[in-house]
Parts: sequence; structure tokens; C-alpha cells
Amino acid sequence: MPLSVDFFDRWASDAYYCAPMADTLIPDYVDARKIFAQQTLIEGVLPISRLARFSEAILSNEGNVQVSLQFLLDDSFRRLIQGSLQAQVQVTCQRCLEAMTITLKDQFELAVVHTEEQAQKLPKTLDAWICEDVKLVLAEVIEEQLILCMPIVSYHEEHCIASLEFAAKQANKPNAKQGEQGSDSPFAILQKLKDK
Ligand SMILES: [Zn+2]
Repeated sequence: MPLSVDFFDRWASDAYYCAPMADTLIPDYVDARKIFAQQTLIEGVLPISRLARFSEAILSNEGNVQVSLQFLLDDSFRRLIQGSLQAQVQVTCQRCLEAMTITLKDQFELAVVHTEEQAQKLPKTLDAWICEDVKLVLAEVIEEQLILCMPIVSYHEEHCIASLEFAAKQANKPNAKQGEQGSDSPFAILQKLKDK
């Protein structure tokens, strides 16, 4: 297999492939006509700030997603992405409504097809990713997988509400944290994203 990869003009650095680093930015997009046949492995990070939809479901868009994407053709010449991702994100604890950090970690396999019709013909074991263009936008793939692996609700492991009630009593303001779960809460937004 050839090791060099022709991306679009804006991604011209072969150095990335010679010396991959943990914090290398992954390219915005790749050429779907070539990347599968070349069995390219892309590893690096994607800033969470670039993922507008996903950012709505979390408290802070700081930090990166660690990404590994292996592109290949299977025995039936289907175009597959075998990927994994990991990210630490801030969400709201649904017990105490304070911020908490959770680690999202997921592995996925996607068959990249051109049309909805092709997607329907895939074996049930394969999830489809529809890409009508030759331009396969990696951030869209990662963002979707992040949303899918995000838990709907998260709780602190320790008994956060007990310590919070204690703090509220100390401050003489019971129930100070109620009423924050309106329709614009990250919780509600995530539910909407997953329902799409
Ligand atoms: Zn909590």
C-alpha cells in the first residue's frame, strides 16, 4: 500500500504522516475517492470548539477530542471507517446541577455510502455514513459519534446533593439550584440532538 496520501490542497503536509503526534490536528476533510483504497490511518485531535452542535450539549467547548480513524475497504469493497474517540467534557450533574467532568470513550465502525438507498442495503451489523460528495468531512463524523456516546444523564459519583444541601443550609438559601432545567439546558438540548 502506498504510504503517501493526497489530500486536498489545504492539507498538504506529508510530515504529519512521518511523525504523528498525539496533539496533531486531524484534517478537516479527506478525499473519499482515495483514502479507503490507501488504507490510511489518521490519528490526532479535533478541538471541541469546532463542533457547534455537540458544544450545545456540554458546558464548555474547551479541550480536544482524541481521534483515531482507520480507512479501509472490506472484502466486498465497502468503504469502512474503524474509529475510536476519547474526550473529557463538562456536563451538568443531574442530581446537584453543578458542573462535572466526564470521559467519553467510544469505538465505532461506519460504512461510507453515497446514497440513502445504498445505506439501506447494508448488512444490519454496519452503520451507514452517507457522503454524497468526494469530500468526507471528518468533524461531522466525529461529532455524530460523540453525540451518540454521550450519556443522557450524568451524576457525580460521590453524594453531591448531601454536601450541596449542607452548603445551602449554611448559606440559608434552600433550593437555590432549582429551576435550571429549562428547555435551554444542556440536558434538553442533548435530548433534542439525539432525537434527530
Ligand atoms: Zn452532583
